[in-house]
Amino acid sequence: MYQHMVRGLKCRLCGKRYPKEPLNFCTEDFGPLEVEYDYEAVARSMSKDAIRNRPHTIWRYRELLPIDGEPTVGLHVGGTPLIRADRLARALGVSELYIKNDAVNHPTLSFKDRVVAVALSKAVEFGFETVGCASTGNLAGSVAANAAAAGLNAYVLIPDNLEQGKVLGASIYGAKVIAIKGNYDHVNRLCSQIAFRFGWGFVNVNLRPFYAEGSKSMGFEIAEDLGWRAPDHVVAPMAGGSLIGKLHKAFVEFAQLGLIDGPIRTRMFGAQATGCNPISNTVKLNANKVRPVRDPQTIAKSLAIGDPADGFFASKLIRESGGWSEDVDDDEIIDAMLLLGETEGIFTETAGGVTVAVARKLIEQGKIDRDGSTVLCITGNGLKTQEALIDKIARPVVIAPDLAAFEALVEAAAPDLAAVAV
Ligand SMILES: *Cc1c(COP(=O)(O)O)cnc(C)c1O
Ligand SMILES: [Zn+2]
Repeated sequence: MYQHMVRGLKCRLCGKRYPKEPLNFCTEDFGPLEVEYDYEAVARSMSKDAIRNRPHTIWRYRELLPIDGEPTVGLHVGGTPLIRADRLARALGVSELYIKNDAVNHPTLSFKDRVVAVALSKAVEFGFETVGCASTGNLAGSVAANAAAAGLNAYVLIPDNLEQGKVLGASIYGAKVIAIKGNYDHVNRLCSQIAFRFGWGFVNVNLRPFYAEGSKSMGFEIAEDLGWRAPDHVVAPMAGGSLIGKLHKAFVEFAQLGLIDGPIRTRMFGAQATGCNPISNTVKLNANKVRPVRDPQTIAKSLAIGDPADGFFASKLIRESGGWSEDVDDDEIIDAMLLLGETEGIFTETAGGVTVAVARKLIEQGKIDRDGSTVLCITGNGLKTQEALIDKIARPVVIAPDLAAFEALVEAAAPDLAAVAV
């Protein structure tokens, strides 16, 4: 029998403890609840040797993921490439740059498969037969796909302005996809009411403490793939502000277990779009409270959360780690998507453009040292946000199917190449 590593839930504000149940906030102060582990039990079972003998999925780090039995959903999620990005590094003017490429995560091509695998495995443990989510796009597809594969009923709620690729990528799996006339914050409020009214398992509402822990797997993989060390800098996109905190928590937990050297000095950098920048704004103003953005307007729709659930903790972590946050406009996002494609051959969605563009800005500002090691978290796939590029990218040149036409084309584009041809 696998030993239970999770003690229960604990309020991040007042520390009050709660049992392992589908709960997301403290009844005393509405603080978010977080999973509490028995780290002594974890340390007894989790060593580098133990980890090395396991498959390259998120479940490689299962002791630090909050399920009690064997995982049942998302068994193949995770294990995405960490790529040394020397051509992009040269373009940005830094010496040691890596891309953590969750644009190719299995099965739905975004980092959300990590959180969903954990949340739905937990939903099965809790006995839920119907699950759901409030989504900005990627979560919809991931819940729909992973629920289908697990034989769960799924209700997926999205704002009514999402990209085709996100809507199709959720609808194909047979889930009920419901578009709400409004923005993400309206969708999220409705989902809280539905979860309560129908008693269903909403991954980012009543299952949120378990769901959020899945993001740590991205940090564990980064540290292991860097040869068991934490990087000097991490740049992560922020929507609700959960991922950035869990990346840092992953390094801290690895150090606590002696798997990497501590204390962790990784500086955390948060990336947002200027059209929806509640967290970066809080950091830049050195404010203590996150002021919600009422009407988000950005092509980075997956990051368009005006009232981020973890915004306060994200801005606090960014400052305490010695990092910073910036935001970028739509043109900067598109330029960065093209730059990543042209230098590294990676096609990311708009959120990835936000990450690369913010990294570029922070390097130019001197906020990110050019000499340190930097990891950029690319969290979603460009095929899902084609609308953003459709008028911005060169169309194919059309020619007749004969050699003379092709020769004329090369002659016009590259006369010296045409001259040496035999
Ligand atoms: C959800 C999402 C994020 C960020 O998630 P939070 O944990 O809510 O900050 C980043 N990138 C993409 C592509 C996403 O879909
Ligand atoms: Zn509390």
